[in-house]
Amino acid sequence: MKRRYVWVILLTLIFTSVFVFAVVYFSAKPADIAGSNPQNVFYHHKTIPVVVQKEIMAALSFYPELKETPIDFVFDPNTSKSVMLSQPVVSSFFRGQKNRTYVIKINPRFTTTHHSIPIQDAPKKVLIGWFGHELGHITDYTHRDNFQMAWFGIRYITSDKYLMNAEKSADSYAVEHGMAEYLIVTKNFIMHSADLPQSYKDRIKRLYLSPQQIMDLVKKLKADTVVAR
Ligand SMILES: [Zn+2]
Repeated sequence: MKRRYVWVILLTLIFTSVFVFAVVYFSAKPADIAGSNPQNVFYHHKTIPVVVQKEIMAALSFYPELKETPIDFVFDPNTSKSVMLSQPVVSSFFRGQKNRTYVIKINPRFTTTHHSIPIQDAPKKVLIGWFGHELGHITDYTHRDNFQMAWFGIRYITSDKYLMNAEKSADSYAVEHGMAEYLIVTKNFIMHSADLPQSYKDRIKRLYLSPQQIMDLVKKLKADTVVAR
């Protein structure tokens, strides 16, 4: 009997720590680096750094339904293995699914094996495609309630396959919003940057849709619309 209690307590503890870890890992308070200056606030409830303002606005224009969604675009060098990273803000969870705040962290530098450039020096279309992909993630998140979001966080960090699905769904949302052309430019830019470590390219190849898969998605979308008519 006693042993059973120990197991129950142990399992509860493990589950709680995994849950808390996932929530904290997958959320972030917006860094103060880029943002609180009222001059930087454009659109509705957005914080947008001036140096990439045009590209962000261009990407946002494809997502009219995110007009009222609070999103802070902030420069943050801690974007793990990615150039950009989209997360819900954990403290906004209590406001419910509709009023959640999101943060898109942007690594201030695009680093290749031998040199690095400020992210705003990347080609305009590449940046628009990149933001379009991140806004695809945000769209995906807005469709999940808090519990699904926490579950998503756990799966995202524990399973490569789930991560792959999340990336696919972000790309699919971007394609549905008419951003295929930009996504392809961004992907080609990454794949053809000779100076990027092969490991990074392999990771992109493994986890993200290829330009061809995006073209297929566009075709499928067109076919579906024809059928729907
Ligand atoms: Zn992504």
